[in-house]
Amino acid sequence: MNTSAVPRPVDLLTVTAVAAVTPAVHRVTLTAAPQVVAAAGPTISLLVPRVGDHSPAWPQIARDGRIVWPQGSHGVSLRKYTARRQDAAAGELDIDFVLHGDGPAAAWAAAAAPGNALGVASAASLGEAAAGWLLLVGDETAIPAIGRILAESAPTTRGLALLEVAGPEEQQPLTGPPGVEVRWLHRDGVEPGLSPLLVDAVAAVQPPAEDDLFAWVAAESATVQAVRADLRSRWGLRRSQHHAIGYWRRGRVMSGAD
Ligand SMILES: Cc1cc2nc3c(=O)[nH]c(=O)nc-3n(C[C@H](O)[C@H](O)[C@H](O)COP(=O)(O)OP(=O)(O)OC[C@H]3O[C@@H](n4cnc5c(N)ncnc54)[C@H](O)[C@@H]3O)c2cc1C
Repeated sequence: MNTSAVPRPVDLLTVTAVAAVTPAVHRVTLTAAPQVVAAAGPTISLLVPRVGDHSPAWPQIARDGRIVWPQGSHGVSLRKYTARRQDAAAGELDIDFVLHGDGPAAAWAAAAAPGNALGVASAASLGEAAAGWLLLVGDETAIPAIGRILAESAPTTRGLALLEVAGPEEQQPLTGPPGVEVRWLHRDGVEPGLSPLLVDAVAAVQPPAEDDLFAWVAAESATVQAVRADLRSRWGLRRSQHHAIGYWRRGRVMSGAD
């Protein structure tokens, strides 16, 4: 038998702590072996069990990275999240979950407790690029990624971060280059995914007159589409100068077997 063709078990992360970052965001701290933590991010394809299911039928991972789902009903959902912090030496990582309702991942995070497990199917980059001038645009779901991008940017970086949240209670302290202005935009009662705040804020920015420019955008899909259109037309950004991804879609579950 060719053992290299045998799928491997998924890597498992175990919850060690859960804390409220803001009223709508839970930070779940997880532990695993250093090499698992190092490989699990910054973008993580998580395997999320049903709330209360402590021995789910985890899928396996084929040699080519494909997920091999078990036969029949297993209750495990595939969702993308961001490792807000990865400390491989300590074998620890944090994921900040927006508690938006009863989707499998949000519900799991709302109920998470030490000892619970999550699976890791794969990991990817954030899609960011270093540049002299950065435009960062996102809602609550993108704060973990924008937080990492800001923290890892060169101290000389200039630019603007536009962050849409429900209200002042949802703002988070972020560390970044002094030349990047962080501007918080409050929905003030408008439901997530229905506010024009990010689109309008980008439309009001005069693009800087320099080529060393990169824009990173993640939020609800329709918002991202509108911002991307502005970046490609009025801003004149080339494909290599922007990364604009819908992180969630209003009224639609994200893809992933369950
Ligand atoms: C690369 C990537 C990285 C991401 N990183 C993070 C992260 O670090 N933290 C984080 O919280 N999210 C993150 N997201 C977004 C997250 O994957 C989605 O919000 C996802 O839909 C949550 O899954 P769920 O099972 O809770 O809800 P789903 O089953 O996917 O959806 C159920 C319902 O909830 C609605 N919904 C989903 N998300 C939201 C929301 N934020 N606000 C309001 N309604 C919503 C859907 O429209 C749907 O009606 C990321 C997404 C991507 C693509």
